[in-house]
Amino acid sequence: MKSCTASKSEITNLLAPLRKCLGEKNVLIALEDRICYAYDGSKQKYLPDIVVRPQTTQHVVEAVRLANEHEIPVYPRGAGSGLTGGAVPVFGGMVLDFAQMNRILEIVPEDLVATVEPGVVTQTLQTEAAKYNLFYPPDPASAAFSTIGGNVAECAGGITGLKYGVTRDYILALEVVLADGSVINTGRKTLKSVTGYDITRLLVGSEGTLGIFTRITVKLIPLPEKIETLLVFFPTPKDAVESASTIISHNILPRALEFIDKSSIDCIKGYRQEIELPEDANAILIIDIDGEEKSVQKGIARVKTFVSEHRAIKIIAASDAKERNDLWEVRRILSPALYKIAPYKINEDICVPRSRILEILHAINDTNSRYPRLKAANFGHIGDGNIHVNVMYEEEGDRPFAEKMIDEIIRSTIRLGGTISGEHGIGNVKSKFLPLEIAPQELQIMKDIKRLFDPKGILNPGKFF
Ligand SMILES: Cc1cc2nc3c(=O)[nH]c(=O)nc-3n(C[C@H](O)[C@H](O)[C@H](O)COP(=O)(O)OP(=O)(O)OC[C@H]3O[C@@H](n4cnc5c(N)ncnc54)[C@H](O)[C@@H]3O)c2cc1C
Repeated sequence: MKSCTASKSEITNLLAPLRKCLGEKNVLIALEDRICYAYDGSKQKYLPDIVVRPQTTQHVVEAVRLANEHEIPVYPRGAGSGLTGGAVPVFGGMVLDFAQMNRILEIVPEDLVATVEPGVVTQTLQTEAAKYNLFYPPDPASAAFSTIGGNVAECAGGITGLKYGVTRDYILALEVVLADGSVINTGRKTLKSVTGYDITRLLVGSEGTLGIFTRITVKLIPLPEKIETLLVFFPTPKDAVESASTIISHNILPRALEFIDKSSIDCIKGYRQEIELPEDANAILIIDIDGEEKSVQKGIARVKTFVSEHRAIKIIAASDAKERNDLWEVRRILSPALYKIAPYKINEDICVPRSRILEILHAINDTNSRYPRLKAANFGHIGDGNIHVNVMYEEEGDRPFAEKMIDEIIRSTIRLGGTISGEHGIGNVKSKFLPLEIAPQELQIMKDIKRLFDPKGILNPGKFF
């Protein structure tokens, strides 16, 4: 696969035309500016040669056209919260920062759609839609800072996936700048369209390797009338997992169904005095039920019965927004709280069929027992079969062992019919695992698609393949 890198003289060639088009302050080459764009949530660091901050589609067109002409890598960037290195400029070149393309262009309640620029923060769209009593369901735990552009590029999931699906299920149409600087419009603002190949769906999850989104039309749905939350403590992970299965097998589809294991629980102990964590709790489920008031009451009552039958030690219920927020805080703080275990972590994002969750949890434990210096902490969207395995380690020297442990967990996941990424994407962090899951012929089709969209390999080189 062709990948391009940038040379200093090529970058110099771009400066004058870019400054003319975008203005001096939107074309950054000072080291202190570029450093801010060298990292993302994966904690890697690669310095870009130039940072371009477009405000319009035409700015993006001009920047990409020039980059293509001079064969300079282009790295689109939202909030840089990606966990697999999607936005890091591994071959230098140009970072396209979408922070200034952050307008909600329209919300059309009659059509149940909204059109936004890619730099809109996910929570902003959720909040604005709610003013019309409408709901944009994809809800990554990073919603307060990640962008819709980044969400579309990663096909972000989150806590509402079980009932409402993921970002892919809400993207109707895209305006896309292609690698040669031309612009296409895929999909329609209609709720249905089966005209031709579904290029919109192909682009969702393409991690900035096929095209650059400059406008995104999303589907909205009516805002649920009521949400209630339960925080349930169990003596064993088995009880929690079996409770989850029982709930779903009785035709209750929770808005959220989250799992937290014992190692993770230990990290959040004492964080909120008002939420007392029982000493003998070895697993937690957080369950949101939403819908019409009456059906929520009924659903919550049935869920309480099911979890009690599975030996729940304690159930905390929340019905108003403040109480719910307090309970969800327990889940939100988990990721940083894990550093109580050890100062280093590798975060994995495996997904298995829900019926195999207990098996993958056992496999993770077995693997962990062979690496006594490391500790796995697991939590995640159990309703989707999506577990975030966090391998924690004390010293940098432990990293190769942590990587070996991850390698074994990935292989167990694939053996159980799962996938190496439920929602965080591949980037450069997971590209080495791609051939484990994707057969050679399918992988070749993906490479051919990449070549068709981006013959010179300027779009996010170093990712995926
Ligand atoms: C604390 C925390 C919690 C998280 N929780 C979740 C979660 O629950 N679910 C989940 O799915 N993810 C989660 N993530 C991961 C991350 O937030 C998502 O992957 C998110 O979609 C990234 O958005 P971003 O705006 O930060 O994009 P970035 O990280 O900047 O970029 C991500 C990818 O999108 C591409 N991209 C960005 N903008 C464009 C564009 N306009 N056109 C084309 N490509 C573009 C980039 O090149 C890159 O490949 C979490 C991350 C953190 C730090």
